Amino acid sequence: CGIVGYIGTNDAKEILLKGLEKLEYRGYDSAGIALRNEAGVHVFKEKGRIEDLRHIVDPNVSATTGIGHTRWATHGAPSRANAHPHQSASGRFTLVHNGVIENYTLLQKEYLPDVALKSDTDTEIIVQLVEKFVQDGLPTAEAFRKTLLLLKGSYALALLDEQDGNTIYAAKKKSPLLVGVGDGFNVVASDAMAMLQVTDQFIELMDEEMVMLTREHVTIQNLAGEIVSRKPYKPEIDA
Ligand code: GLU
Repeated sequence: CGIVGYIGTNDAKEILLKGLEKLEYRGYDSAGIALRNEAGVHVFKEKGRIEDLRHIVDPNVSATTGIGHTRWATHGAPSRANAHPHQSASGRFTLVHNGVIENYTLLQKEYLPDVALKSDTDTEIIVQLVEKFVQDGLPTAEAFRKTLLLLKGSYALALLDEQDGNTIYAAKKKSPLLVGVGDGFNVVASDAMAMLQVTDQFIELMDEEMVMLTREHVTIQNLAGEIVSRKPYKPEIDA
C-alpha cells in the first residue's frame, strides 16, 4: 500500500502507473488513480494488479496532474467501491490515503450524520470532511488543516480540488511520505523508489505536516499553520 502524486507538464498517467508499480512490493489488493485536466477529475480504480488498472484507464484522458494509490484493505473488503481514490459527495474533492483512521465512526456521527458514505472505508470520511468545511466557508488549505486536526490514527494523504488545477495537497502522520522536487514539476510518494524515474531530490516530511505542491513550488506547514522550511536531499538508494 502506498500513494503517489504528480503535478507538472508531462503525462501524469504514465508517471503515476510506473510509480505504483514501484510500490507493488509493499503489498496491495487494489489500485487506482485520479487524473485532473481542464475537463475535470477522472477516477480509475480496480481490484487486483496495477496491470488490471492499466487496462481500464481511458487512453484518451491526458493530464499533467494526478494522484494514485495501492490499497491494502484495513476497513472494507477489497473491491472497486472501496478502492481509492475516494471522492466527496459533490465530486469536487478526490483523495488517496495510506494508513488507518481510528475515529472515523465518531467523526461521521459528529460532523456528517446526514451524509451517506459511498464506501465501507475509514478513508472516505476525510474527503467528506474537507468538503463540509469548504462548504462552511473555509478555503481548501484551511479545510484540509482543520480535517487533519480531527484525525486519530495514521495517514499519508494526497488530495485534489477539482476547482483548483494548480495544487496537490498532501499530509503525513505515522505513515511514510516524501516530497520529490523537480524543474517545473513536484511529486509526493510513500517511497522515493516510486519517483526516482523523475527526480533524485527529496524533502522529508515530519508527522503532522501538510504540504501544498504546485508545478513550481513546495509549501510545507505544520498543523498550527506555521510555514516550515526544509532543504531537499539525495537519498542513497540502489534503484
Ligand atoms: N485504511 C484504508 C483502507 O482500508 C487505507 C489502507 C491502505 O493503507 O492501503 O482503505
